[in-house]
Amino acid sequence: MRRAKVLMMAALFFLTIVSFGYAKRTFVTIGTGGVTGVYYPAGGAISKMVNKKYKEYGIKATVESTGGSVYNINAVLSGDLDFGICQSDREYQAWHGLAEWKGKGAQKNLRSVFALHPESITLIASVESGIKSVADLKGKRVNIGNPGSGQLQNSKDVLKAFGVSLKDIYPEYVKAVEAPGLLQDGRIDAFFFTVGHPNGTIKEATSGRVKVRIVPISGPAVDKLIKTHPYYAKSKILKKFYPMAANKTDTYTIGVKALLVTRKQESAKTVYAITKEVFENLDTFRKLHPAFEILTKQNMLEGLTAPIHKGALKYYKESGLIKYIPKNLIK
Ligand code: GLU
Repeated sequence: MRRAKVLMMAALFFLTIVSFGYAKRTFVTIGTGGVTGVYYPAGGAISKMVNKKYKEYGIKATVESTGGSVYNINAVLSGDLDFGICQSDREYQAWHGLAEWKGKGAQKNLRSVFALHPESITLIASVESGIKSVADLKGKRVNIGNPGSGQLQNSKDVLKAFGVSLKDIYPEYVKAVEAPGLLQDGRIDAFFFTVGHPNGTIKEATSGRVKVRIVPISGPAVDKLIKTHPYYAKSKILKKFYPMAANKTDTYTIGVKALLVTRKQESAKTVYAITKEVFENLDTFRKLHPAFEILTKQNMLEGLTAPIHKGALKYYKESGLIKYIPKNLIK
């Protein structure tokens, strides 16, 4: 009798310990992009930073490969994902209820955590297609981006700025991860991808049998576009990243920034932990991807539209970084 009682007590004690351990565990998923982009390794880098401190926070972060910015914003808002990486221009549109969110209203539960690397609107074309400028895309087969990606709207903006309508081209809507293969197989002439550099997609596209060129997106049409769309800024794609491309010099284009976003309802503890780990270990974080080299604590707080999540804000207050944050982002 006594032995059974002792055994039962021991079992109860054990069960309590185990369930307590589980209750303290938090699983979070970060939505990224295609595996050969920069979002995917960026999500991996963020997860790595926070998972290292599992004992302290009990957070286990994992990444999910997704269709990109627009998918990530919507999945974060619906609660299907805890965090997502997205383009700064898409965050702006979602927050103001424009473009993909037109008719759905302003997405007021969207929250910024911090900014990451710059992304360039990258136009890749086979040399044999003869495409040397955006205007040359007329009559060509062009992948403008999958629904859910950030680049779909960027491609449309750029084409419009150069007076090229969707009727003037043969548009394709496939994921960027598939575009290099289609280009190398001669099934498309060109593709758009808004992405940080260097990345696996452009490396793959430029190192195949078919010679390819990075096409500039510049000139008066672009100056006008920047005036009406202030979230676009001039950028350049360095030749050194893609030595096999037909270009002899760096390529001028325009770009946006990648951001980490979440929703208002996300736990402040979790957002705080992720923010703190990335900022306090920025030197280590920067080494996790070459596109991160230029990151600074200050530029990681630039380019945001949606208010800062309260968990991240707690860290920015504690660390004095709050001085870099515009008042309208503090709610
Ligand atoms: N900017 C792209 C998008 O929003 C993704 C880029 C990447 O995967 O690195 O869909």
